[in-house]
Amino acid sequence: MFLVAAALLKPRCRGAPGLWFRRGEDDGLVRATVCRLRRAWARVAVRAGLAAAWVSRRSGLGAGSIIGGRVALALDPDALSRLAAGRCVVLVSGTNGKTTTSHLLAAALRTAGRVAHNATGSNMADGAVAALAAAADAEYAVLEVDEWHLAAVAEAVDPVVVLLLNLTRDQLDRGTEVRAVAAVLGAALVRLPRTLVVANADDPMVVWAAGMASRAHWVAVGAGWTGDAATCPRCGSILRTDGPSWKCGCGLARPEPDSWLDGELLHTAQSVTALDMRLPGRFNIRNAALAVAAAATLGVSPQRAATAIREIDAVAGRFAVIHRGQQELRLLLAKNPAGWAETLSVLEEARALLVVINAREADGRDTSWLWDVPFEQLPRRAIVASGERAADLGVRLSYAGLDHHTQPDPLAALALLPAGKVDVVANYTGFHQLLRRLAREAGTS
Ligand SMILES: [Zn+2]
Repeated sequence: MFLVAAALLKPRCRGAPGLWFRRGEDDGLVRATVCRLRRAWARVAVRAGLAAAWVSRRSGLGAGSIIGGRVALALDPDALSRLAAGRCVVLVSGTNGKTTTSHLLAAALRTAGRVAHNATGSNMADGAVAALAAAADAEYAVLEVDEWHLAAVAEAVDPVVVLLLNLTRDQLDRGTEVRAVAAVLGAALVRLPRTLVVANADDPMVVWAAGMASRAHWVAVGAGWTGDAATCPRCGSILRTDGPSWKCGCGLARPEPDSWLDGELLHTAQSVTALDMRLPGRFNIRNAALAVAAAATLGVSPQRAATAIREIDAVAGRFAVIHRGQQELRLLLAKNPAGWAETLSVLEEARALLVVINAREADGRDTSWLWDVPFEQLPRRAIVASGERAADLGVRLSYAGLDHHTQPDPLAALALLPAGKVDVVANYTGFHQLLRRLAREAGTS
């Protein structure tokens, strides 16, 4: 019904003002009428999007967060800016940790008010529209945004804060060269003179990009992956490092941090906050530090933010523990070399391991990144290579000297592993396919 109504209304509302008035009429009255019609049309677009999302969820086609946003944007290209108007919007971007960090930050801000959040990780404009439409009364919005879409989303929502986590190589066909991503982000930040950028002081790519912003709050959280930080992003010279500091002859250097992580303690000049997380891994402590620092810039005390995020033990299925038959599965997502390098640190305990690799559009079609993952560091254990690109993964594991089986179907692959604890590491679509199958099997979807 909404779609039919939308189809009837759309051409009139989006037409030129000349459709509605003749030259010589009162321009003020006409402008007011046009504004009213546009607002009415925007409401129709949002309701149509919500209806499409509802249909998607009810039919089991998806979470509705993409189709709902696309319908609203198709009917009203300004839907994102209209929905964001008057709210305190924070954008979270970077190569790894966007979904987790945005969940942590949303939890922290919920201690101050209602929060709109694209919790399922739909991180382009359509996902942002869907999240804002679903929480019309939320005064805060935490929006995870893909690096390549930050400029467009930021221009529409005029964020109060942009939280920039890290920038490392991704699949060649998706992310291109990491310095190019940093340059695009920097150019976007230049156009946000009122925005505060909260950024990782230990990632030279991030510092170069965030340094183009008019205001930055630097958080020193260390870096788990330095494979893309050997040379200066600004001039290409070799970076000189001295302990945590780094600098280049051109002047680009690690900025003096406003907040810094020491073990699991987040320091500022005024406070020390313990980040005793339930989520595993050093990388999640870094994510938490950045989320707490960002929340503090919006008036949520570090202590209150840390207390809120301490409750989180799984994020959109990631880090969840599922019992299936005689096996206890711990679900982890890793989709690029830096993500894997971080994940390896939580695979130290020699559990059985299922690795699921797909190469769909959302994963990147290119699987050469598997050769940048230091699988050689993986302690020996029972391993099965799985997913639509199981064969590619199997070759890589063979070159790493790791005995393994290869079985493209992840559930069949689990049958090849022993009873007990099993770590499951999958990339993006592999992870979500497996989650859906496990949920269907358990009768929860
Ligand atoms: Zn330089």
